[in-house]
Amino acid sequence: IVEISGLNKAFGRLEVLKGIDMTVRRGEVVCIIGPSGSGKSTLLRCVNLLEEPNAGKVVVNGFEMTDPDVDIDRARRTIGMVFQSFNLFGHLCVLDNLTVAQRKVLKRDKDEAESIARDNLEKVGLAEKAGSMPDQLSGGQQQRVAIARALSMQPAVMLFDEPTSALDPELVGDVLAVMRNLAEEGMTMLVVTHEMQFAREVADKVLFMDGGVVVEEGPPSQVIGDPQQERTQTFLRRVL
Ligand code: ATP
Ligand code: MG
Repeated sequence: IVEISGLNKAFGRLEVLKGIDMTVRRGEVVCIIGPSGSGKSTLLRCVNLLEEPNAGKVVVNGFEMTDPDVDIDRARRTIGMVFQSFNLFGHLCVLDNLTVAQRKVLKRDKDEAESIARDNLEKVGLAEKAGSMPDQLSGGQQQRVAIARALSMQPAVMLFDEPTSALDPELVGDVLAVMRNLAEEGMTMLVVTHEMQFAREVADKVLFMDGGVVVEEGPPSQVIGDPQQERTQTFLRRVL
């Protein structure tokens, strides 16, 4: 469902991605781990063309993102993204945060949008917060709202960029639990994370990135449990 080949991205003279190949199949959870600055966020942003690659091919849900003629708005509608910072609309209540794009972009009527929104709030355990404003919620609750908002667009694949790294430690578990449930329901997910326990238990495949390349990839038992590459071993010693 996500097919990346020969992906290169540079910012000026700084080469950040140097020939990335990767595949995410429908229903798979793929976790990307690696040190700061290795290009993880840039890779994720190339998937929905928030960054424009310099070379290579990115295909998502049958849309060739790197084709200049792609209908980028339609393509992006099939991709949900959750960032480290929650980016909720501060002037809208939780329910409206979940319905605004459904109504504007997908042209759903109010009742349908609200019904889908409430289902997704229920799913992230925040049904009773529909009327709250974002600043009345904890960081973990806001992040769960952001997940529910992305889900309300009924994407075919969800991208997560360190969704728990801005949270107080005691709030991380709730967000990971929501993501774990999503994975169990069969959602296709590409997750940049420092949560090794999550990657170990939930991922079908783990990619270790360093210096703009995929150094090692495979099942978590291999990449995290028994890494073959020196660089992977060094990284894991520091984070585990
Ligand atoms: P972290 O774990 O800290 O989030 P990362 O693996 O996500 O790191 P990226 O954010 O992809 O790393 O950044 C990779 C490199 O690209 C870094 O050196 C960064 O400074 C650089 N970079 C990222 N975005 C830009 C940009 N818009 N303009 C210039 N350089 C950028
Ligand atoms: Mg990053």
